[in-house]
Amino acid sequence: MEFLCAKCQKTYPIGGLQYKCECGGLFSLKKAPGERVPITVSLGEVVTPIIKRCFGGVEVNLKLDYFMPTGSFKDRGAFILINAIKAAGITEVVEDSSGNAGASIAGYCAAAGIKCNIYIPESTSPGKIKQLSAYQANVVKVPGSRDDTARAILAAAETTYYASHVYNPLFFEGTKSIAYEIYEQVGIPDYVVAPVGNGTMLLGLYLGFKELGRLPRLLAVQSVSCAPVYRKFHGLAPAPASSTVAEGIAVPTPMRIDEIIAAIREADGDIITVTDDEVVAAHEQLGAMGIYAEATASAVVVGVQRYFKPEEAHGLNIVVPLTGTGLKK
Ligand SMILES: [Zn+2]
Repeated sequence: MEFLCAKCQKTYPIGGLQYKCECGGLFSLKKAPGERVPITVSLGEVVTPIIKRCFGGVEVNLKLDYFMPTGSFKDRGAFILINAIKAAGITEVVEDSSGNAGASIAGYCAAAGIKCNIYIPESTSPGKIKQLSAYQANVVKVPGSRDDTARAILAAAETTYYASHVYNPLFFEGTKSIAYEIYEQVGIPDYVVAPVGNGTMLLGLYLGFKELGRLPRLLAVQSVSCAPVYRKFHGLAPAPASSTVAEGIAVPTPMRIDEIIAAIREADGDIITVTDDEVVAAHEQLGAMGIYAEATASAVVVGVQRYFKPEEAHGLNIVVPLTGTGLKK
């Protein structure tokens, strides 16, 4: 198993300090046929349940991916990434997320006995640090802007393994397990509706279904306040991002934007945007059904009601993953 530069085809070891190629290209994972990550670390991963529910007259298969150990689908990525680097002898990592990805990396590092340093902007609210602290992560608060944090993490990554949920292809090797589960549960769907920030779920879906031999149509959902993928996909000029309640998908500069767009095009998919008011309403709609998801997760419920007309959606197999629990707030 090696990292492969998508641009120049140079390979690198998975346990090394290089998180991208010296040519600037991003890594994908190169595996021998049948090669698997050896699993020694578990937090009790489950096959997440699917329940049928109706939104605006459209029946969908809701996949409750917040049933994962730390409360979000990001555990799929951390599970494989941390198992792989533990096998490679890594004893300490750095990562830069105060959200679900950071919690997943911190949780699995705790389980694996790997020292975990999470870099976050100093302005991050204390509530977001609670779960990281519970997992005994060393939280490094960086003064200044998000860009200052980005600079600090890249400096730290020069000497410590970067367990990045964006750069490290082992993370995407993990998130693709959602495709295999969906296939076992309901076959290859007609559509999967996925929120998109850095594309960790969407690229996982793409890679997994690609291996399975057939892609569902991928409908990506972004917040209107932060929609770089939507804008590039539809040929619109970039626009400045503003804050949104769907903070899990508020990524102004997704590193893998071209991969995300290529995946959606190959899957004959589409991208739409949703407003904060719609997300808040969908969050309440889910709550009224007994489903307590994070606000970001509710964006896909808006997407369903906006994109599909009940008369046209009749009989379609539509899978809608809910990415994270509402209990973290
Ligand atoms: Zn390269």
